[in-house]
Amino acid sequence: MNSDRGIAYFSMEVGLLADIPTYSGGLGILAGDTIRAAADLSIPMVGVTLLHRKGYFYQALDGRGWQNESAAEWVVEDQLVKMDNHVTVTIEGRQVNVAAWRFDVRGIKNFVVPVYFLDTNLSENSPEDRNFTDTLYGGDQRYRLAQEIILGYGGVRMLRALGYQGIERFHMNEGHASFLTLALLNEELRKEERQTVLPKDLDAVRHQCVFTTHTPVTSGHDRFPIELVNRVLGRHAVADTLELCCFDDNFNMTYLALNLSHYINGVAKRHAEVAKYLFAKYTIDSITNGVHAGTWVSPAMARLFDQHLPTWREENYSLRYALSIPAEEVWQAHQAAKRDLLQFVNRLTNAGMETDVFTIGFARRMTAYKRPDLFFSDLDRLRLIASNAGPFQIIFAGKAHPHDTSGKELIQHIYWAKEALKDVIRVVFVPNYDIEFGKLITAGSDVWLNNPQPPLEASGTSGMKAALNGVPSLSTLDGWWIEGCIEGLTGWSFGESEQSDGSEAGRKRDASALYDKLQYVVMPMFYQNLPRYLDIMRHAIALNGSFFNTHRMIQQYVLKAYL
Ligand SMILES: *Cc1c(COP(=O)(O)O)cnc(C)c1O
Repeated sequence: MNSDRGIAYFSMEVGLLADIPTYSGGLGILAGDTIRAAADLSIPMVGVTLLHRKGYFYQALDGRGWQNESAAEWVVEDQLVKMDNHVTVTIEGRQVNVAAWRFDVRGIKNFVVPVYFLDTNLSENSPEDRNFTDTLYGGDQRYRLAQEIILGYGGVRMLRALGYQGIERFHMNEGHASFLTLALLNEELRKEERQTVLPKDLDAVRHQCVFTTHTPVTSGHDRFPIELVNRVLGRHAVADTLELCCFDDNFNMTYLALNLSHYINGVAKRHAEVAKYLFAKYTIDSITNGVHAGTWVSPAMARLFDQHLPTWREENYSLRYALSIPAEEVWQAHQAAKRDLLQFVNRLTNAGMETDVFTIGFARRMTAYKRPDLFFSDLDRLRLIASNAGPFQIIFAGKAHPHDTSGKELIQHIYWAKEALKDVIRVVFVPNYDIEFGKLITAGSDVWLNNPQPPLEASGTSGMKAALNGVPSLSTLDGWWIEGCIEGLTGWSFGESEQSDGSEAGRKRDASALYDKLQYVVMPMFYQNLPRYLDIMRHAIALNGSFFNTHRMIQQYVLKAYL
């Protein structure tokens, strides 16, 4: 019955709803937006991920701005439908049973892409094995390895058990899913009841596999000690293949995917260049990320698009005609989105944010290379800007990985700065960044700030959500912004665009470039030349919203990788 599906999309995290907290950030949001675009465009896809019963985590901040984590509670039965099928995977020599839950993603023409969430919390499993599908990116290396075995092997076996026999392409969204290549290799061997791997088996697997790499940061690529892999995964007939991926006693999931895919890509042009340098032996293409327009456009802006560009939901490229929407109407729609954002923030935090005040938004994972505290490098300079260029307020959100102590310290720096500035500038940190707050903050800010240290941001997608809502970016030139920035037309750039060394001096230069742009260009335009500002807002929609969306993106995957 499920033989109509040609593409299986595997991702350790998928962000579909705030009520299904099985995503941590950009990777999962991209997976969700990819699946939504496939549903809109009737692309015969099926998604596979893990259940993560305890989610990523629920973030709360204590009185000193320190992040505390607790399990993100959600009721699986309320969101997903349990399937009857069971399969098994081998972990440390034990048979571990795997079940699946389904969520249907319905596109604009009612085409459905099912997503299967794998679950080991079954009474047949030992208490310890039942925990394997609890926490996203939790636990130690052994736990992570077990999860990746469940995703890769369990996912392929579950698809077969569910009747998906006609899948021609297996897409690995990052290396966590690489073991699916070995599951497919096993299938090749079983076809001919052979024990040894022949070159033609590797070719057959490559023909089916597509790999997207997502980070130029080396620590972002999963590596496991070989001894651990041998113990947890066991020695297989495919062990020779594993040797292709072993370096200095470590087994590298990225190399497994690179070696067994026929198409490999990075997620922006600059990222693909960096990836080619990291993985020189492989041909690496680029497909720049996008976001799902229908999901991220605010209700007020969506009504405006419905009125002026009625086909925008199914043909995102018609957003290129946004220039024909009267500026005044764009302004009103933006004001509505801004009110929604500020009301939410004020209710939650008692921050007293004002609609008339220029509002800067910043939300992303709190980690060193994204420099979330760059804005607070010089508090006196910020006071000067507030008195010379006009009032401004700034809203932050984002989680630090539970093990990332320096990331938690960055949140605390923001807290300290908030206290130090409280008489002149309103600063707020909104806890527990999720999809719903992501919609509010990207649509309701007046400018979207991003300041990663180049070239470490692979793509970034929140600026694309902002662009769709007519919110220009103010960002260092990295990731997608190298492609999206037309200075003074779609937004603004600042700082060093070439490889930045991460030095204190480089950081100071970037902060000072940010302050200059804000004080002399962006804020004067906002307060004194609103028609020019609105021109930029409409160009953000027309030039960037029309292009940096997952409809365009998935059509590139279809042409370059799937067909
Ligand atoms: C869009 C989004 C992200 C990813 O944003 P980046 O700019 O790519 O870092 C992460 N988390 C949430 C909740 C989002 O909405």
